[in-house]
Amino acid sequence: MAISRLGDNMAFEYINKNGDRKPKIKPNIENLSNFKKDFNWEEVFEEIPWLPGGGLNNAYVCIDSHVDSGNGNNVAMIWNGKNDEEETYTFNDLKVHTDKFANVLKELGVCKGDRVFVFMDRLPECYISVFGGLKIGAIVGPLFSAFGPDPVKDRMVDSEAKILVTQPELRKKIEGIIPDLPDLEKIIVVNKNNRTDDPLVDDDLSYEDLMSSTIPIESIENTSQYDYSIMHYTSGTTGKPKGALHRHQSIVQQYATGKWALDFQKDDIYWCTADPGWVTGTSYGMFAPWSSGITQIIYEGGFSASKWYSVIEKYNVNVWYTAPTAIRMLMKAGEAPIKKNDLSSLRFIASVGEPLNPEAVVWGNENYGMPIHDNWWQTETGAIMCANLSSMQIRPGSMGLPIPGIELAILDKDLKRLPPNEPGILAVKPGWPSQFFAYWKNDERYNSRFKRGWYITGDEAFMDEDGYFWFQGRSDDVINTAGHLVSPFEVESALIEHKAVAEAGVIGIPDKLAMEVVKAFVSLNNGFEWSKELRLELMKFSRGKLSSAVAPRDIDYVEIMPKTRSGKIMRRLLKARELGLPEGDTSTLEDD
Ligand code: ATP
Ligand code: MG
Repeated sequence: MAISRLGDNMAFEYINKNGDRKPKIKPNIENLSNFKKDFNWEEVFEEIPWLPGGGLNNAYVCIDSHVDSGNGNNVAMIWNGKNDEEETYTFNDLKVHTDKFANVLKELGVCKGDRVFVFMDRLPECYISVFGGLKIGAIVGPLFSAFGPDPVKDRMVDSEAKILVTQPELRKKIEGIIPDLPDLEKIIVVNKNNRTDDPLVDDDLSYEDLMSSTIPIESIENTSQYDYSIMHYTSGTTGKPKGALHRHQSIVQQYATGKWALDFQKDDIYWCTADPGWVTGTSYGMFAPWSSGITQIIYEGGFSASKWYSVIEKYNVNVWYTAPTAIRMLMKAGEAPIKKNDLSSLRFIASVGEPLNPEAVVWGNENYGMPIHDNWWQTETGAIMCANLSSMQIRPGSMGLPIPGIELAILDKDLKRLPPNEPGILAVKPGWPSQFFAYWKNDERYNSRFKRGWYITGDEAFMDEDGYFWFQGRSDDVINTAGHLVSPFEVESALIEHKAVAEAGVIGIPDKLAMEVVKAFVSLNNGFEWSKELRLELMKFSRGKLSSAVAPRDIDYVEIMPKTRSGKIMRRLLKARELGLPEGDTSTLEDD
């Protein structure tokens, strides 16, 4: 069976300016369930290209297989540097570079299973290093370049990484922790376009020198589908980040979901705004698009609404995968920068990482002419599990339907299935292809996630009668007030519908009578100032939208919402600050 987008003949539901939902073409959900019933992952396993030696290697699927099938001249990556440099790499080019880098690592004594960490900005060499490492069977750990020394140290020490590939400014930033990394053998420094004079210190090796003196590797390591490929630390939203290990076979689900949930089509130009330091930036910023052979835009710079729109216009981006935090910032920037650019190339927009407020879905429809498709997954799941597909009726605020081959369920405390519309624990039937297979050196933690035949996600949700899943919150975040279970997300979504509110974070405060009461923190849109009157207005507004049992008992102002570096609101930090408790692990907290 050839994996294609699900249901070309189906359409999503449009929402008009008044928020009315008007299906353009009747969605064909039945068709989707037929597909699910017959679906077997083995079909996708058969469809992806295996190594000539019989094994499975992500680098072969994503790069060399296109060369072998005669598509090596297709463009894999267009890089737009922060100084507006531009470089284009075909699949042939990527093969040449990654073959060489694989050999560089081999000559340095890196063996299958060794950890190679990459601490780099979104430079082409970051991608080359990751795939070069995969080609020799190393376990590659991408690190977010905005990390300070401590988060890098924690991850490098925990993973016992042998090699670090980095760049001069980042090397300098972490200088102080290098002596504390007992397993680190070599640092390879990439001096992109000679941006730095004298880039090398101590025994560091120059990437450029190593690459110019090496030869391409003879063959890709014949890794099995079960060999580890990528090691990603989680975002640290709920506590200390965990090192989730993935296997080469994850590519099967990444490949299929690229087509289904991100609507990849031949000749698409795709832009994933996530950094490779987070799982979205590898699963969907490397593996999914390149396993489908499409062109990716890699934009090195940071967020700016006008710059982002100009990237879409300049490169004619068709498919755009981003995150709620970015969408909220784009909403804050408003219509003006949208009008200055031609965004007509866009065909499909999707979001992941946090709940996507219904307001944002409607806003996308009004401002981009298409809704934003929310999908749900985690570092641990390795790939998209639940999604609003292009072919479905979108329900704003819902994470959509489980993708074919994935079983999700809502369970009660005793891990029994709950009927529709009852919130509970979101669980997955284990055995999906991109499942993580360990937390590095933490079997106890890993085992604790699997109970009575289910993988416990740590999230709470409910499923409606039609099988759509609706996120309620993290298990730790759900608020129990006077016997009601309150979803912080629902309260936050109500608050951001107010024109003054840019972002909202909602927590439960211990209370003698009610057990917990709901408290909200808001940051404001430009042009609004915090005042007693605004506080009262927001209290009234939220009571009007929610029942008084659910509406916040108190609302406070924060200038900057505490967020992880991957952009998620850190409710646990709001709570710790409010209650004067220790802040716990803040290694992934975004700088103010
Ligand atoms: P940690 O596990 O360290 O606390 P984290 O859970 O934020 O951090 P990730 O694996 O990056 O680390 O994030 C996955 C989580 O993000 C999900 O479990 C869920 O809570 C949230 N999430 C992802 N996508 C969505 C979505 N579409 N809607 C709601 N929540 C989402
Ligand atoms: Mg998590």
